Amino acid sequence: MPSLPMSTCEINQDSKDSTDPQESLEDHAELIGSAKRRVKDETLEKEDLKKSRVEDELEKSKEETKPEINEPKEEPEKPEESRSEDGPTTEEYIIDCSPSPSAPFEHRVVTTKSHQITAYYTINRDEILGGGRFGMVHKCVEKSSGLTLAAKIIKTRNQKEKEVVKSEIEVMNQLNHANLIQLYAAYESRSDVTLIMEYVEGGELFDRIIDENYKLTELDTVLLIRQITEGLQYMHKMYILHLDLKPENILCVSRETNKIKIIDFGLARRYKPREKLRVNFGTPEFLAPEVINYEFVSFPTDMWSLGVITYMLLSGLSPFLGDDDNETLNNILECKWSFEEAEFTDISEEAKDFITRLLIKSKSWRMSASQSLKHPWLSDRSLHYRLHQKKNKCHSTHAPPPES
Ligand code: ADP
Repeated sequence: MPSLPMSTCEINQDSKDSTDPQESLEDHAELIGSAKRRVKDETLEKEDLKKSRVEDELEKSKEETKPEINEPKEEPEKPEESRSEDGPTTEEYIIDCSPSPSAPFEHRVVTTKSHQITAYYTINRDEILGGGRFGMVHKCVEKSSGLTLAAKIIKTRNQKEKEVVKSEIEVMNQLNHANLIQLYAAYESRSDVTLIMEYVEGGELFDRIIDENYKLTELDTVLLIRQITEGLQYMHKMYILHLDLKPENILCVSRETNKIKIIDFGLARRYKPREKLRVNFGTPEFLAPEVINYEFVSFPTDMWSLGVITYMLLSGLSPFLGDDDNETLNNILECKWSFEEAEFTDISEEAKDFITRLLIKSKSWRMSASQSLKHPWLSDRSLHYRLHQKKNKCHSTHAPPPES
């Protein structure tokens, strides 16, 4: 980690690990505007930001096939004008709060086996689903059942590294929730440990953020963030912190729906109330101030990351991203972010309020997962109705027009 000019950082002495913060926004009063940059992606050239001319057609067909939003039958859609003629009716829109599809197997408590994994699974070495910090994730099939799964092969050089992976297994053993990827089996050999997990095929949420042809509306974002929050609420109830929440670690169940699952419990750990847990890892853009400052991490640390993800989904921008890691880290420590960018013009006040209640430097003032689920942006049906009517796109709205 690059050294930081600490003089610019206000050191947060707060060590309260309250998960029931008061809803004060004092700490946010000093927000200063900052020059945001588009989500980092080396392959994303400027011309890629230009909107496709067929996007309106794509949008139409997407609306037609969207299965997870239920229009209330008794309230057919009416134009604004005719509604007002009918008098004051409360228009509501019921978003689908049903969970993601469950894993194709019952939750199981996995113990690591030292048998030859190839006797039981065919691992498709050519089909790489993703490259992680410590190894590769491949598609695989269980020979006895034909079940398609994902195999995360983690290189381990010594017993200590094996223990680290075993803690990931222990965490996953405790998590039985449809928004959290499920563990199926684990195998160890001399040089690696392989986690066999539920497979999901919809790709990383990150890809939806950077894909200008993927028309994400604010209402889509509500659905996505709701599920991430539900997964987090469950984890926090189980006293487990994820500590590495970012769009790369949120997988879409399919390309057609807005159902997601949280993955990568490699940095997750059990929260112990009196333990001073300090961590010094993670991707700079998503790190919470307390992580950078080597202070106690707690449930609100994940809530900060939720705020960053929400900001990114709505705008396509990374709220703290600077020209280099040093600048990024300083922006986080100064809690320097804003809604000044044009990308936020059409975004609802409720969405902005939601982010504002998460991106707070002092962790005890951030909303908890349960409070977040009750926030109007995620729970107010009449707001969801308005968003549905408006169909406002997220980040792509302000992309440059297509070249003629
Ligand atoms: P690491 O802990 O090494 O960062 P991850 O668990 O984040 O590894 O996995 C790396 C990438 O592999 C993910 O970003 C994702 O694209 C892909 N991946 C991981 N798990 C699955 C899965 N269960 N199904 C499909 N793809 C997966």
